Amino acid sequence: MSVKVGVVGGGQLARMMIAPAVEIGIELSVLAEEPDMAAGLAATAVGDYRDAQTVLDFARGVDVVTFDHEHVPQDVLAALVAAGVAVHPGPGPLAFAQDKLRMRERLEALGMPQPEWAAVADAAQLQAFLDAHGGRAVVKTPRGGYDGKGVRVVRAAAEAADWLGALGEGDRLLVEELVDFVRELAQQVARRPSGELRAYPVVETVQRGGVCAEVIAPAPHARERLPEVAAGIGSAIAEGLGVTGMLAVELFETTDDRLLVNELAMRPHNSGHWSQEGAITGQFEQHLRAVLDLPLGDPSPRAPWSVMVNILGGPTEDALTDRLPRVFAEHPAVKVHTYGKAPRPGRKVGHVNATGDDLDAVVYEARAAAALFAD
Ligand code: ADP
Repeated sequence: MSVKVGVVGGGQLARMMIAPAVEIGIELSVLAEEPDMAAGLAATAVGDYRDAQTVLDFARGVDVVTFDHEHVPQDVLAALVAAGVAVHPGPGPLAFAQDKLRMRERLEALGMPQPEWAAVADAAQLQAFLDAHGGRAVVKTPRGGYDGKGVRVVRAAAEAADWLGALGEGDRLLVEELVDFVRELAQQVARRPSGELRAYPVVETVQRGGVCAEVIAPAPHARERLPEVAAGIGSAIAEGLGVTGMLAVELFETTDDRLLVNELAMRPHNSGHWSQEGAITGQFEQHLRAVLDLPLGDPSPRAPWSVMVNILGGPTEDALTDRLPRVFAEHPAVKVHTYGKAPRPGRKVGHVNATGDDLDAVVYEARAAAALFAD
């Protein structure tokens, strides 16, 4: 069996598919946005993923096309499908990861628990929602947001005047109740085109400034039925939307013990980096298996606790890799992953994984090692 996977997008998620691809013996090629990106270690073409011909040329010679991000336009995806290319996840499910309004509509139809929401086209509609929800709400641009960009808490419609003013004919903003959450969780599920599905343990994600800072797997202090309920939500969404590959469902755990869906990602996800060393089958290998319709691996944890701490920003005076001798000397039990990206304030440039029996000790190790990479 000789198989080739083409990954559109050259970021760290594509980069981290390379090692498992090499291990299994899968050929991986990447369509990167620019030269010298994180995934530049693989056979790399450079081109614009918004251009159908570029993506079609890239897809020639691979068995399946998958993604490092969800931004490939629907017309490009449709051109791939029309040309007979296997695309996972397909354009149908991807549409729900590309547009938060469509996602809310679809999840409602599936009966999934979510924050109260509405689509608003003008200040009067937004004000009406605010008035009905205690005078506070979260306004979101349906498309193109990431790491908290395109998300704004407002107390008056005027605070979203710029976004409302920029709406085109027929466009709307998403407005949601400001959820009173205890913490944020993420549920990952892998699904094959032929239907097999595997759920990872639900994890706790800690966000700072709209960016994921840490992940604890499995989510500590989980109420008895929480893992089961979270896995049920993840599985129902993967099946209901027909997702193939890895799906991440970001969840809010509310003060009154409910789980509400925040958003979806249809690719490996930051909340699953712990699984690289923390699970029997890491999310990057699992994604490759799933998009190739190969039997899925066991997602069970290898240790009672795994903790992932992101390296944000990175050192400005020296390279991330210059810090390795000290990190390796002081923290021989942690695993370091760097993305080959230039440091920039707030940018995700790597992460550290630690595993063990004692949660406090594992958190300490991972944080201490990651801190040595900060400036
Ligand atoms: P992005 O696409 O940028 O990741 P999200 O929709 O995940 O945007 O929102 C970013 C963060 O904003 C969330 O992780 C959460 O902390 C906060 N947030 C988003 N929606 C709500 C909401 N309805 N209520 C409370 N906080 C929210």
